[in-house]
Amino acid sequence: MSDSEIHQQLQIALESFKEPESGRAISKTGQVGDWTVADGVAGCRLSLTSMMQPIAQETADALRDHLLANVSGTKGVNVRLDITYRPAPTIGQIGLKAKSVIAVAAGKGGVGKSTLAASIAIVLGRMGAKVGLMDADVYGPSIPHLLGLDGRPEIVDGKIQPIRSGEMPVMSMGFLVGKDQAVVWRGPMLHGSITQFLRDTAWGELDYLIIDMPPGTGDVALTLSQLLPLSGVVIVCTPQEVALLDAGKAISMFDKTKVPVLGVVENMSGFTDPESGRTFDIFGKGGARNKAEELGVPFLGEVPIQIPLRSESDAGRLSDVLLNTNISKPFEDICRGLVRSLARQIANRPKVSAPLPIL
Ligand code: ADP
Repeated sequence: MSDSEIHQQLQIALESFKEPESGRAISKTGQVGDWTVADGVAGCRLSLTSMMQPIAQETADALRDHLLANVSGTKGVNVRLDITYRPAPTIGQIGLKAKSVIAVAAGKGGVGKSTLAASIAIVLGRMGAKVGLMDADVYGPSIPHLLGLDGRPEIVDGKIQPIRSGEMPVMSMGFLVGKDQAVVWRGPMLHGSITQFLRDTAWGELDYLIIDMPPGTGDVALTLSQLLPLSGVVIVCTPQEVALLDAGKAISMFDKTKVPVLGVVENMSGFTDPESGRTFDIFGKGGARNKAEELGVPFLGEVPIQIPLRSESDAGRLSDVLLNTNISKPFEDICRGLVRSLARQIANRPKVSAPLPIL
C-alpha cells in the first residue's frame, strides 16, 4: 500500500475510534491532525481536553493500536499528545458550569470517605484537570481540616468566593460555622445550603466537581439529585463485612435515584510495615472487589493504610503528603479508573444530536 493510500485508510479508521469526553467518533471532533506518512510509518497529533488528561497516555496508546490493527500496511504509528480546550456546559437549572459532578459516598462514617474525596480531587487536578471540591458532609465537615484551610468566604458581586487549596476552589459548611459548633439541620435548611453551595459559589469552569457526601443514605443525596444530574458516584468502603453491607445499601440507594455508580474503592486495605516489609490485612482485604463484582459495578482500586496519610491530614497537610509518589500512587490508579468509568458511561449512552453532549 502506498503512503497516500495508508493516509486515506487512517482517516477512515478514525471513524470507529471514540473520543473519550464526548463519546463521538474522533474523526468528527477535529482532535487528530498534523498527519505525516513516510515509508509506511504514520505520525499524528492527538489533542485531548483537560478533563481527559488523567487517561491521555492510555488513550494515545489505544489510538495507536486501533490504527495499527485497522490499517494493514502501516508499519508504525507515532501519536503525539497535546491539550485542547473545550468549554464546560451549564449543568442543571442552577447555572453551575461543570463537565461532570461526582459524589463520593459511603454507607457509614469513618471509612475514609472525606480523605478519599479530597485526595481524588487533588490528584485529578495534578493530572491536569480543572477540579472543584465541595464538602456536602454538613453534619461533620472535615475537608477544611484535612486541607489546612480556614477563613470565611467573601461575597463578591453576589457570589460566594470559595477558599482555595492551591488553585482548587473548595467550599464547605466548615468555613461558615465555628470548628466546635454543632449545626442542627432541618430539611429546608439543608436543601437551601446545598443549593447555595452549588448555585451561588464562584466555582469558575470545572471539569470535575467532587462532592464529599455525608455518610449513609439520605437527604443530601436526594437534594443533589433534584438540583442537577449527577454524573455518578464513587462508593468508599473498608474490607470488613459490616462496611460492605452498608456499601451495598448505598449502591442500591443511588441505583434507585438513577445515579450511575462509577465504582467502588476499598480503603484501609491492608497495612505494610515500612520496617519489615510485612503486610498485615488488618480489616481484611479484597472484600470490596468481590462486592463490586457481585453487584456488577466497577472496582476502582485499593488504598492501603498509610500512617503519613493519617498523621499529615490530621495536621492539615493532605495536599503535601500526596506529593509523595508512594502515597499518591493508589489514588492515581483510582483517578484513572474513575475517568475510564466515566468515559465508558459516555460511550454507552444513547446518541443525542446536540453538538457536545452534557454529562
Ligand atoms: P469519613 O469521611 O469516612 O468519616 P475520614 O476521611 O475522616 O473518614 O477518615 C477517618 C480517619 O481515618 C482519619 O483520621 C483519616 O486520616 C484516616 N484514614 C483514612 N484513610 C486512611 C488510610 N488509607 N490510611 C491511614 N489513615 C486513613
